[in-house]
Amino acid sequence: MSRSRVWKVFIFNISLIVVIFLTGIFVGFVFRTNQIIRNQVTITARAHFKNIVLTRRWNAGYGGVYVEKAHGIASNPYLDNPDIAAADGRIFTMKNPALMTREISSLAEKSGDFQYHITSLRPLNPNNAPDDFERAALLSFESGAKETFDTFTRDTHATFRYMAPLYVEKSCMACHAKQGYQVGEVRGGISVMFDITAVETDMRTNTIYVFALTAAISLAMLGVIWFLVSRLARRLSRAYETIEAMSITDELTSLYNRRHFQTRLEEELGRAQRYDSPLSLMIIDIDHFKRVNDDFGHQSGDAVLREFAIRLRASVRKTDVAARWGGEEFAVILTESGVDQARLAAEKIRQTMEANQFGALAGARISVTASFGVASLDLLPEDKRSDSEMLIKLADEALYMAKQSGRNRTVVGGVKG
Ligand code: GH3
Ligand code: MG
Ligand code: MG
Repeated sequence: MSRSRVWKVFIFNISLIVVIFLTGIFVGFVFRTNQIIRNQVTITARAHFKNIVLTRRWNAGYGGVYVEKAHGIASNPYLDNPDIAAADGRIFTMKNPALMTREISSLAEKSGDFQYHITSLRPLNPNNAPDDFERAALLSFESGAKETFDTFTRDTHATFRYMAPLYVEKSCMACHAKQGYQVGEVRGGISVMFDITAVETDMRTNTIYVFALTAAISLAMLGVIWFLVSRLARRLSRAYETIEAMSITDELTSLYNRRHFQTRLEEELGRAQRYDSPLSLMIIDIDHFKRVNDDFGHQSGDAVLREFAIRLRASVRKTDVAARWGGEEFAVILTESGVDQARLAAEKIRQTMEANQFGALAGARISVTASFGVASLDLLPEDKRSDSEMLIKLADEALYMAKQSGRNRTVVGGVKG
């Protein structure tokens, strides 16, 4: 996998983790918030229920209350004797808990707040017959349930319904004992219903808000991650390039090192083979270099090696490959060069080295010569032209010959140049 692809995969994976993580937080947060809001709705419904039960208890505590029967006030048809006359002739009519509940409910409904419905599985007043929700709730109360609630859509409005049982209390017995009521038994229930469109809208707004926030945080985090990771990638890439350059470079002379030279030689041999082009190899050994060290010191020796490398690089073409072969030895691949060109190139370099003294420590000037061994693909049999070892051996032998025959000279493939 390429380095940039590795980074892309890394950024993608880390982004995915961040998005999954934040989405998890988002879903959990929305779920929990909505749950709290729904609980609040149930608490409100319970409060309504308790209020009406309390009001009924107040009413029942007095055995029902009388109100003056003004114009338009009907008597409760389910009571045996709902009306009484005062001494001054005014008529009062009984409002028992059931009727009061219904009247408060219709007031609440008119004001658009909520609705109560008192109901029973065996109602005296047919208006108090349960609907499906209430019937199911009443049946569940008979088997011990304490409350029930549900959300549904009514005339396109989200509506919450709550219902809890009504227990027969002592105060009920004054009127209902004759119907066979027992204190503590369930005799029906009151359902509370109210519009929760606003609450649902709030929950939706909350969800959208948290989603937008999560998306914004995700984007910001992805941006920061992208920024940091790409900066890290750039730094690492520069470090990698430095290491790569160091691994192919000779520290003292900044020429290629021997290992890289050999890699390049294989490549260049392959290319020369493919395009049937000439190629030559030159190995250079500085003459009596030991004496330079002995006479001027090792550091001056190093300075000579550095200058030798600079001159060598300046003397070859850009397409040629110059390297430090080791110690005081250098090597050059001369691409597109046959044996004659290589010999000329070697001679030119040799003369440059000989003609100009080298600078050393404390302003010393040192005369240095070198011996050159040249080998060329032209000199190899056809079937050996991809054999780098063979080419090196030939150049090495030529160099040895140059040394043997007096140094400061170029020998080509064993023939004196
Ligand atoms: P010849 O003409 O036969 O090549 O003689 P020479 O003295 O150059 O050859 P020899 O192989 O006897 O000695 C090579 C010397 O090069 C010995 C070694 O100390 C020195 N040398 C090798 N590498 C370095 C280096 O990095 N810095 C310095 N200053 N000297 C080096
Ligand atoms: Mg040597
Ligand atoms: Mg030498």
